[in-house]
Amino acid sequence: MTDKAGLRDKDLRYVWHPFTQMAEYEPCVIAEAEGAVLRDDEGREYIDAVSSLWVNVHGHRRPEIDEAIRRQLGRAAHTTALGLSNPPAIELAERLVDIAPGELAHVFFSDSGAAAVEVALKIAFQYWRQKLSGREPQRTRFLSLDNGYHGDTLGAVSVGGIPLFHEMYGPLTVDHLRAPSPYCYRCELTDSRPPACGMACLAAMDDILTQHGSVVAGVVVESAVQAAGGIITMPEGYMAGVADLCRRHGTLLVVDEVAVGFGRTGRMFGCEIEGVRPDLMALGKGISGGYLPVSATLATDRIYEAFLGEYSERKTFFHGHSYSGNPLGCAAGLASLDVFEHDRVLESLPPKIERMSGHLHKLARMSHVGDVRQCGMIGGIELVADKRSREAFAPDLRIGARVCEHARRFGVMMRPLGDVLVWMPPLCVTEKQIDTIAEATRESISAITEQTRCRVSS
Ligand SMILES: *Cc1c(COP(=O)(O)O)cnc(C)c1O
Repeated sequence: MTDKAGLRDKDLRYVWHPFTQMAEYEPCVIAEAEGAVLRDDEGREYIDAVSSLWVNVHGHRRPEIDEAIRRQLGRAAHTTALGLSNPPAIELAERLVDIAPGELAHVFFSDSGAAAVEVALKIAFQYWRQKLSGREPQRTRFLSLDNGYHGDTLGAVSVGGIPLFHEMYGPLTVDHLRAPSPYCYRCELTDSRPPACGMACLAAMDDILTQHGSVVAGVVVESAVQAAGGIITMPEGYMAGVADLCRRHGTLLVVDEVAVGFGRTGRMFGCEIEGVRPDLMALGKGISGGYLPVSATLATDRIYEAFLGEYSERKTFFHGHSYSGNPLGCAAGLASLDVFEHDRVLESLPPKIERMSGHLHKLARMSHVGDVRQCGMIGGIELVADKRSREAFAPDLRIGARVCEHARRFGVMMRPLGDVLVWMPPLCVTEKQIDTIAEATRESISAITEQTRCRVSS
């Protein structure tokens, strides 16, 4: 048995992979990566079209980030943030506050996007119990969206709205309020598309808040795109509309920027697109450039101050993680922000976004492509059995997964969301690599939908 076969064998035997049916899993071992390219243990190369699940920002083995981590490694790999601090965490907190939207002024570090969301929920809940200007302890519920995704810990699952991931754990979760998703392609509220629909999804949220507003601790929404829900791009005016409803109904706006933060939308944060000013914001994924598990929850002064007092008042936020504020991760995060500045990364994106847009428009004409959606460097291609009726493929055909598997032959690594194909390449991706991703996508959609047609009709 060769070394490589031995590794794959051990992978199957010992590693339980996330979101993976292990009975069907076929090992694929990535041994190296550089820039936007992954290399497997047999030397095959693939463009990392989903940024290693939406985390990588400036490419793999980015010299500046590698060097920052090495430098920090020469000082300390980890020291606790419980009652202590370290230089990279302090500097990163300041830089995040500098670039954050609105009045966010304090940074609570954690180590995963889910944890950052849990922290936001617990802070929001506790805020109403101890805020200075009159307590409102009855505000214990959250309003979130159908198709929302905020991570896999139980609090985050409670505000999640993807049945395939979340239904199973219903009995373990807290019952929250749910508003319709701004999923225009499959909207059941109205037949018209925005702006003609008058944003029926927002009106539905307004109704829920009118009825239950006094018990709502916060409205929890992803920013700009419902990512894991199927790259559901929010219609123009939606985010600003949600922010306005929160203000009118006097509740907190909790924005989850874990997927879209750090340049994916073409702006540093999705909130900037419509000038949204959240009360709490969760960051993760790209915060360390995609290098190390760092996340953060940002809060305004108003919220932070509600937690200040004598120890005996029990206003402390009793929450933390062993690796909160990890110096290596924060050093990577600082280096990533430096790359944004030095390389003028955001300014480099418009031609790439346009390139993706051109390809998406062409793909939209294919007979099994029902809808294409784009927000900046994020693209979604929804495959359907019937274009006119928008009928979906039977889920068990696993069309999306098979198309992505097929794309590996063309040197492109993708992972779908059901039958929605996802493009979320590192921001350093070249226009030529975007062309390759698009070509592989087109060829693979053709091949797999053709196969399926033959199989269904034979
Ligand atoms: C991925 C994701 C999370 C969860 O982040 P993890 O680091 O996987 O826990 C939360 N919210 C959104 C919007 C995400 O895309």
